[in-house]
Amino acid sequence: MLRGLFGSCSVHKVPLVEEEVPVRYGLIRLPPAYQEAKRRRFPNAFSFVLGGCLVSPTNPRMLKVRCCSLCREAERAWQKDLLDATSLPE
Ligand SMILES: [Zn+2]
Repeated sequence: MLRGLFGSCSVHKVPLVEEEVPVRYGLIRLPPAYQEAKRRRFPNAFSFVLGGCLVSPTNPRMLKVRCCSLCREAERAWQKDLLDATSLPE
């Protein structure tokens, strides 16, 4: 499952680089807020790939994807914002 096959990032206008990322198996539901932020702010982060919920020993643990390093940074910043926000006292 290769994703992000375009040559450059539509948000950051930088070339995508090929990188191996971990594949996460299992029934993983990404939060809607994450999906929305990903679509708008870091569409080519690809810090992991969802491998589906069928787990077998022959499944690859790593997959090559084409990703954008600035998207990675944006994703990390977004996650940090989220953690900061949720750790605020009520
Ligand atoms: Zn990008």
